[in-house]
Amino acid sequence: MNINDTLQINIEGMDIIDSLLNVGDMPSVILDSRTFEILYQNKKALELFGDNAHLLCHQVFGGKETPCIDCPINDLSNSSTKIRYNEILDNTLHWKYTRIKWIGDVDAVLATVEGFGEYEQISKKVSMMGIGSEYDSLTGIPKLSSFYANAEREIFANPETHYAVVVFDIDRFKTINDLYTMSKGDEVLKYVAKVLKDTFPGHNNYGRMHSDMFAFYMNYDNKGEIIRQIEKIRKAIYTNSFGFEINTSYGIYPVEDLSVPINLMCDRAMIASRTAKGNVLKFCAFYDEQYREDMLKANEIEQGMNKALENGDFKMYLQPKYRLSDGELCGAEVLCRWQHTEKGIIPPVDFIPLFEKNGFILKLDEYMWNLACQTIREWIDSGRNPVPLSVNISRYHIQHNDLEKAFSELIKKYDIPVDLLALEITESLFLDKPEKLNRELVKLQKIGFKLEVDDFGSGFSSLNLIRNVAVDTIKIDKDFLDSELASEKGKIVINHTIDMAKDLKLQVIAEGVETKEHVDFLKKSRCDIAQGFYFAKPMPLSEFNQLSF
Ligand code: C2E
Ligand code: CA
Ligand code: CA
Repeated sequence: MNINDTLQINIEGMDIIDSLLNVGDMPSVILDSRTFEILYQNKKALELFGDNAHLLCHQVFGGKETPCIDCPINDLSNSSTKIRYNEILDNTLHWKYTRIKWIGDVDAVLATVEGFGEYEQISKKVSMMGIGSEYDSLTGIPKLSSFYANAEREIFANPETHYAVVVFDIDRFKTINDLYTMSKGDEVLKYVAKVLKDTFPGHNNYGRMHSDMFAFYMNYDNKGEIIRQIEKIRKAIYTNSFGFEINTSYGIYPVEDLSVPINLMCDRAMIASRTAKGNVLKFCAFYDEQYREDMLKANEIEQGMNKALENGDFKMYLQPKYRLSDGELCGAEVLCRWQHTEKGIIPPVDFIPLFEKNGFILKLDEYMWNLACQTIREWIDSGRNPVPLSVNISRYHIQHNDLEKAFSELIKKYDIPVDLLALEITESLFLDKPEKLNRELVKLQKIGFKLEVDDFGSGFSSLNLIRNVAVDTIKIDKDFLDSELASEKGKIVINHTIDMAKDLKLQVIAEGVETKEHVDFLKKSRCDIAQGFYFAKPMPLSEFNQLSF
């Protein structure tokens, strides 16, 4: 099978998987390609590596806390096979990697050992891949293993000297490949290698880690020297004759503890480099222990999220919305809470941003939307007069989900009137690709959904921006309200914003309404609806059901 093909396993039971993957006598492991969790091991793998169910690949096979810097899973499109040293067996293994779909639609990788380290068996392939040499076949500079060896030799031999390990990569290297062809990409890599060679003549203190990632180490007396060295390299790479910009981002690990192995030092430098990515004011960052803690925390959350969804640990909380003209309850916003078995209630700020990065938000939001529709259905069935519920739509959905289909199916599934479900879309999304977003929104509006611009005023948008967009309501952001209400001029800004919104036939909701002063002001300004702690905090459904509606 081609590595780019996705092997769909439709599994009815583990028996089928067992019989498939126990053919032959080679170890096979299935890994979650996002979290690196070991999902399955065949008999041979169990025998050789022990039972590692639910542990993480890099912990088991690399003895490391973070994913390997040269993890083949991240780079699968380039190569289907890799030769890697295995600590448990103290041997070199020849792995073949294939992308598959695992139970529950999890993106996974099937890793099968095709050969062990006996020279005879793999030497041919090794030489074909240039693995026998100390130097990277494309750029001619030391490859990963030689870089590790060189760094280890020098750094560990000079415990009195201060060293720093620096890892860097090219920003948007993939775009360079896509726009200017792979061979141009190769030229760029060779050029970066040449810059390193010229910077450190006669000193093998640099290497290519993999793909577009490079590293070097240097001694220093004060940290400013490291930054000056990086600036020189960065400038030399930037000043090129390719005709396009080549920017690089650097992570610095100052070596303080010699008990940390060199590969872990590089991993940590790499973690630091990620924090510099996408930040125009910052091209390098020092490793901070906090990054590692954040990553571990994120790992922990990622490991628990699927189980939590299955167990129903994500709870729907409802925050009431009140009509300012008569003080009547007129709707509620659906907000998620994670009821963690050990940690108690986790607020959305601790997991939504992570889920928006790893894509899990698609599953979680659909789950919340279902809960909202189910609640409306129950209200109708029990003879109540339901209030509309508004659900949040993360930015990830706009790129990855067919919202029209998803929401039409939902109202059909629960057989509920379309005007009982409102959709909240955050303001910043209107800055990205307003035309594309608007096309999606028009379709939803045609079906009858009410659309709300969430966090209005928090970004750069103005009524001008959303004037031509298919929305029904703006939700004024709490911070906007707070900052503007603090001054007389600000009050005028809010008054005009509300007036203009009303002229554009938009409904206005104020969120984060906390004080009587807020309420009085909003009433005078003709704001329609208020939501905030002054009236009620988000509450579980059982509590919301006690309110009168
Ligand atoms: P948001 O959509 O802007 O939701 C309003 C947030 O303001 C809620 O925070 C709410 O508890 C809080 N809030 C309401 N009234 C007041 C007030 O008077 N004062 C203050 N200080 N805060 C108030 P929460 O529930 O922590 O949610 C935070 C954010 O997480 C939400 O902001 C939303 O962007 C996101 N979120 C929550 N649940 C979901 C979900 O199911 N899916 C998605 N995609 N995002 C969600
Ligand atoms: Ca919202
Ligand atoms: Ca909001």
